[in-house]
Amino acid sequence: MQLNKDLYIIGIGPGNLADISRKAYQVLNEVDVIVGYKKYIECIKELTREKQQLYSTGMRKEMERVEKAVGLAAAGKKVALISSGDAGVYGMAGPAFELIAKNDIAIEVEVIAGITAANAAAAVLGAPLMHDYVVISLSDILTPWDQIKKRLKAAAEADFITTLYNPRSSRRKMQLQETQKIFLKHRSPDTPVGIVKSVGRDGEELMITTLSELPLEKVDMLTTVIIGNSNTYVAANKIITPRGYKI
Ligand code: SAH
Repeated sequence: MQLNKDLYIIGIGPGNLADISRKAYQVLNEVDVIVGYKKYIECIKELTREKQQLYSTGMRKEMERVEKAVGLAAAGKKVALISSGDAGVYGMAGPAFELIAKNDIAIEVEVIAGITAANAAAAVLGAPLMHDYVVISLSDILTPWDQIKKRLKAAAEADFITTLYNPRSSRRKMQLQETQKIFLKHRSPDTPVGIVKSVGRDGEELMITTLSELPLEKVDMLTTVIIGNSNTYVAANKIITPRGYKI
């Protein structure tokens, strides 16, 4: 494959090689350098070749990785910058484009889409996202909690199916509890909720429960939570949100 761009920003899907697009597969095999979070470099290691340079850093070092990838691309290397899921969804595409724009860096960039955790989680749960939905990250590291709460309230009031990312960590426990309270003000306690941990990875776990019974302690940072809308129901162990067809 002829690589005609300098930097490829690639979503590698939720965490196994089968969920990576064919294009991402080919590009990852061809570039000179792959930059990513340690764990995700591990995920795609099988695809790499000896002469490729791998550059990884730990959690919260996103800007370091972006600077490295953009810098190497500007210096003439063919570079892949990887994110889990899709790189344009709370991933590396945003900060990379921001840095390139701010410093007027003359490189050609292509984003290669990936399967998001929301889509992978929805697939194992059945068809929960069959109507209008939103994704809200409960992480208040880069976004003030008040703003997140405002969006949660708006989503709950407007009856959006709501997917929660970054729902709960050892240091951030109250956010999910507050979210549950907000939704209980606008939605029935029996509203179906799907909880999927490590989707597409070793140790994948899923649980179908209700809004009032949501087991907070089962949820961690590797979990995606999907709250149904007022029409969502559970049948034959699947979460289904009707689209409106006459069945
Ligand atoms: N770019 C990613 C999202 C990154 S935000 C995407 O498009 O999917 C990180 C959050 O995504 C995690 O806190 C978790 O809520 C969710 N997530 C990522 N990978 C996951 C997986 N394999 N299983 C379940 N949830 C996952």
